[in-house]
Amino acid sequence: MFTQSLWNSFSGTTNFPQLTKDIQVDVAIVGGGITGISTAQLLAEAGFSVAVLEARKVGGGTTSHSTGNLYYNIDQVLSSLQSKYNNEIIRRVAGSRNSAVQLIEENVKKFQIDCDFKRVPSYLYSSNEENASKVDKEYETALEAGVKMEIASSEEIPFKMTRGVRVSGQAQFNSMRYVQGLANAIESESCKIYENTRVDEFEENDEGVTLSTTGGIVRAKYAVHATHTPKGVKVMFHTVLGPYREYGVAAKLSAGEYPEGIFWGYYGSGEKVSVRSYSRGEEKFIIAVGQPHKVGQAKDNSQHIEQLVTFLKDHFDIGEVTHRWGGQHYKPADKLPYIGPQSEGSRIYVATGFSTDGLTYGVLSGMIISDHIAGNENPYTEVYKASRFTPAKSAKEFLKENLNVATQFIKDLPFKGDEDELKFLKNGEGKIIEKDGHKVAASRSESGELNLHSAFCTHMYCVVHWNNAERTWDCPCHGSRFNQEGGVLEGPALEPLKKFNSSGEKS
Ligand SMILES: Cc1cc2nc3c(=O)[nH]c(=O)nc-3n(C[C@H](O)[C@H](O)[C@H](O)COP(=O)(O)OP(=O)(O)OC[C@H]3O[C@@H](n4cnc5c(N)ncnc54)[C@H](O)[C@@H]3O)c2cc1C
Repeated sequence: MFTQSLWNSFSGTTNFPQLTKDIQVDVAIVGGGITGISTAQLLAEAGFSVAVLEARKVGGGTTSHSTGNLYYNIDQVLSSLQSKYNNEIIRRVAGSRNSAVQLIEENVKKFQIDCDFKRVPSYLYSSNEENASKVDKEYETALEAGVKMEIASSEEIPFKMTRGVRVSGQAQFNSMRYVQGLANAIESESCKIYENTRVDEFEENDEGVTLSTTGGIVRAKYAVHATHTPKGVKVMFHTVLGPYREYGVAAKLSAGEYPEGIFWGYYGSGEKVSVRSYSRGEEKFIIAVGQPHKVGQAKDNSQHIEQLVTFLKDHFDIGEVTHRWGGQHYKPADKLPYIGPQSEGSRIYVATGFSTDGLTYGVLSGMIISDHIAGNENPYTEVYKASRFTPAKSAKEFLKENLNVATQFIKDLPFKGDEDELKFLKNGEGKIIEKDGHKVAASRSESGELNLHSAFCTHMYCVVHWNNAERTWDCPCHGSRFNQEGGVLEGPALEPLKKFNSSGEKS
């Protein structure tokens, strides 16, 4: 299956240079997604010299695989915060997210970023009686916490609904165009952006942080992991993050209206599907997003995507399905992201655990981290403090995620075969095989080239699984993903999968 996000089709490309020498800056930002570019903007505006180091292309990570919705409520719903946090915190979460959406809107105007930003209402609804109480609970939570939410009428929601609520004044945009546009606008002598420049190592010392990259050494007073999840084994956040893969599809309507707004609906026994429309010029699309599963733990990834196509067919008169894609998100054990110094006094910052709300949380991270580095007060620093994690608060989720990880270490592999099975491996397929007593990740490219790699993830040595939709090797433990050539696509791993040569030796 060929996967490509809608945003990739409707964005240009950026042309920032590769780093080719050693440099010194105030702040090194690793990652050029919405988090990295927003942080760079605010630090440069505060007078710091900044270098953004992006392994591939600006905006090409998860930022270009989102739904492009901007809202102050959250995807796991506000009521999920109630068991852990008081009303004051719930209000602050909504307030902080609102200020991030406002900054995006201001930037769109200030830099004239052509990214189809518009204000729309956001809806949460139940499609059956079974799920109506979830919507009722969300409404009660919002009322109690003093977060604005209203009852929606069935005329507003283009789906069968038993209960619905509305949050007015939310927004949508093309996330990739926004980040590319912002990066082009902020690049300057004191805010350098480097593409195709991968950071391989972080070393914190008394003076600051030294980063080894594919293009040179970067010495900085501070460094920021704006990589969606922190890189490497030294940063221990992976024990409190659940990595999930979720999917999107875009299609043309043959007849009927494209709905305007953000629509989150509960279906069946509580699965959530998100629907929005996107138009640019004469082109219009309907998008459905959902079908999450733990990374590397789906039996058939393609099936998850096809379920979304079926959903669209069940609810709309669908013509061509134009785009199918997957994206990653990381659920924090105690429901809120981790933003700030990785530990008390550290010069290395993290911004992670965004769930599927990171277009807003990424911008908020930029606001919190830039204020912290500049020594300014920020009203939201404490809410998201990265060093806040306490096992007591997060115990249930923490244990659940880590039990799941432990199971992946000891589980026997599905689809395991022996060396003879290589003969039957078709183009575009992958399989774990046993070869000379080693576990090998074997895959064939579209053109038939056989790739053999050690099946052990280079992060913490779990065995990777084949993702048959995106044709990648995905690690079921902490979410690292690798392409067929073994290169790191995302997740905490820093090193590629080790090549397995013909004599059976790993190199
Ligand atoms: C299906 C789906 C739908 C979503 N929809 C929404 C939505 O509607 N609204 C919302 O708010 N959020 C949404 N999200 C979440 C949101 O997209 C992400 O949280 C957000 O884009 C994360 O941005 P980021 O900049 O932190 O990470 P990314 O965009 O992933 O950027 C990280 C960058 O770091 C780079 N990098 C990684 N390793 C290195 C290295 N070693 N050296 C240098 N660079 C490196 C990568 O190449 C990448 O460009 C969705 C997520 C998914 C999966």
